[in-house]
Amino acid sequence: MEHKSTMRKIGAGIIALLIVTGSFATPPENLKNSAMEKFDIHVFPALPYAYDALEPYIDARTMEIHYDKHHRAYFNNFIAAIKDTPYDSKTILQIFASVSEAGDAIRNNGGGFYNHVFFWNNLSPKSGKPSAELTEAINKAFGSFDKFKEAFSNSAKTRFGSGWAWLYLTSDKKLAVGSTPNQDNPLMDVSTIKGIPLLALDVWEHAYYLKYQNRRPEYVDAFWNVVNWDEVNRRYAEAIK
Ligand code: MN
Repeated sequence: MEHKSTMRKIGAGIIALLIVTGSFATPPENLKNSAMEKFDIHVFPALPYAYDALEPYIDARTMEIHYDKHHRAYFNNFIAAIKDTPYDSKTILQIFASVSEAGDAIRNNGGGFYNHVFFWNNLSPKSGKPSAELTEAINKAFGSFDKFKEAFSNSAKTRFGSGWAWLYLTSDKKLAVGSTPNQDNPLMDVSTIKGIPLLALDVWEHAYYLKYQNRRPEYVDAFWNVVNWDEVNRRYAEAIK
């Protein structure tokens, strides 16, 4: 009896410990030493170019409000949501891998914080082109580069309401496109599409309304002029390891 009671106490202790520290799922193994793993959850990074750098495709006023108001609010709200919780000492990948248990404030603001850092880095006034390796993978998955563009653009244009379109690498190392609602992303356990993100497009109205109003398809078509392919190539090389 005494033994059973001790075991019960230990069991309760373990459960209490799990509640206090949180239980975290393992993020994708091949991202262990990647730039994503090094993402600092406590730093609001500078925009990697000037507000007007992506003109005329994305206008300076939209960039300024998007970065300095929308993005900054996600960051501030995320920091407030993780303060004095076990999430404060976790990596962004660990948080996303168990985000179903984290609550809406961490899910929405953590996603909003991370997705925008990702988005700024996958845009550039110097667009470049996909690497030979990525081109080969695109052709294999979609038939041709144009068919890939069409599939990605359709994901962006048909996402109902607010969300994101993604090119991502599945766990069996295949390229796929799809979209997520709100500020979800393919690294989250709650997402219906799962994998390592390679390219993202923000299709919230705040990303295009000042210049394009209701014409989301025009914004999606303009996006292809400012894709930072060097960054997508780097992400692909890292993810395929
Ligand atoms: Mn946005």
